[in-house]
Amino acid sequence: MALRTIVTTPEPVLRRKAKTVTKFDENLQTLIDDMIETMREAPGVGLAAPQVGVSERVIVVEYYENEEDEEAEDAEEAPKRLYAIINPEITRTSVEKEVAAEGCLSIPGVMGDVERHLGLTVKGLNRRGQPVTLKLKDWTARIFQHEIDHLNGVLFTDLASRVWKPEGPIEDKV
Ligand code: ZN
Repeated sequence: MALRTIVTTPEPVLRRKAKTVTKFDENLQTLIDDMIETMREAPGVGLAAPQVGVSERVIVVEYYENEEDEEAEDAEEAPKRLYAIINPEITRTSVEKEVAAEGCLSIPGVMGDVERHLGLTVKGLNRRGQPVTLKLKDWTARIFQHEIDHLNGVLFTDLASRVWKPEGPIEDKV
């Protein structure tokens, strides 16, 4: 595994529609492993392949299994779930939406209020090319919406009702 460089705006790859993955070869496995390591090192809770300069439809997400875990007294002990999803597609969205503040590893130093669906169904393939269906809610659903936007060249600042520069560090960047 190796760390990759996270590209930042205005790098053109961030604005390109990423290509569908068709080959589940060694290059893909290396890309996924590198993305996981790069996400953890950043640190972030999600990363899309265009953010490491690769215009392919691959995302990784690592977040708490459910919302209560995040509130656990010892957050370090809360179980996290790691996802690596190829060619993800949102096939269902909840009617309910929520506005919350997001930050992005590719747009350092800013946060924005973005309205997202609270629940989602995402279909895609796992790293071996097998179909997976994920039912996601709350912050995990938000991270997936942010990452899938990256695959379509969309950045959270395009969608934000308000963008600002926070004084302290930004947590849970994606
Ligand atoms: Zn991002």
